[in-house]
Amino acid sequence: SRREGFSTIPDVKWEDIGGLNMLRKEFELYIVNRIKYPSQYEESGVDLESGFLLYGPPGCGKTLIAKAVANEAGANFIHIKGPELLNKYVGESELQVRTIFNRARVCAPCIIFFDEVDALTTERGKEGGWVVERLLNQLLIELNGGDHRRGVFVIGATNRPGVMDSALLRPGRFGKLLYVPLPDPDERGLILKALARTKPVDCAVDLLDLGKREACENLSGADLAALMNEAAMAALEEKLRSPLSTSDALQFTIKSNHFELAMKKVT
Ligand code: ATP
Repeated sequence: SRREGFSTIPDVKWEDIGGLNMLRKEFELYIVNRIKYPSQYEESGVDLESGFLLYGPPGCGKTLIAKAVANEAGANFIHIKGPELLNKYVGESELQVRTIFNRARVCAPCIIFFDEVDALTTERGKEGGWVVERLLNQLLIELNGGDHRRGVFVIGATNRPGVMDSALLRPGRFGKLLYVPLPDPDERGLILKALARTKPVDCAVDLLDLGKREACENLSGADLAALMNEAAMAALEEKLRSPLSTSDALQFTIKSNHFELAMKKVT
């Protein structure tokens, strides 16, 4: 489905995100408060970057953070997947880029999130690279828009920062680089707690402790979401097997034994 034209305020809150507090602070300073208290920023005369690149391993919250920033700022959010902009007819890619930025300006304050932004740069110079070349040039024109970009912020995301075209990483473009790491043991627990906000997890389950287990080493946020989901599935299956399944719907909870089953599947 084409999502280029779709702009709305996302429903992700900071509380849905485990860890990543440093990033939250950065974005509060650089985007959220700037949208909320424009006159104070104006008075101070500071010159702040409006373009960001989130980089790091997959499934660690890049998309979530971008959405939460828009939510907290009350800004519109346009989600673009880099590869969706490619493989178009001559001139079509450039037109799309212009259209995206025009829409963003109209519905400012607005955050344009470029997922897999490295897709716009890797083929440059290679055979067929002209599509990327022209797309990239148009993107640079829009990003250089200066005053026209008031209230329009861009956040790119990539798992492969090394292949990014260096022209895109200069100040005023995706100029501020922010690393989104794999969670450490404590952060894994915080992510599980954040994920549990929307799940009936039994309060006897120690999610912080679960996150510290050696078996959880190297799990990403997305892996932990899968773990949570497997645990919920195990609870559901047990519930459906039980003869009381229709009468005690209120007692449905995800318990320690369900997490143990889920751990075996996921790790
Ligand atoms: P990719 O590089 O693959 O696009 P990403 O870094 O953008 O990944 P997200 O899409 O933000 O990752 O995360 C995928 C899913 O994993 C989220 O929808 C959420 O369920 C879970 N998740 C990842 N990181 C976190 C986190 N820090 N806190 C809570 N949930 C998380």
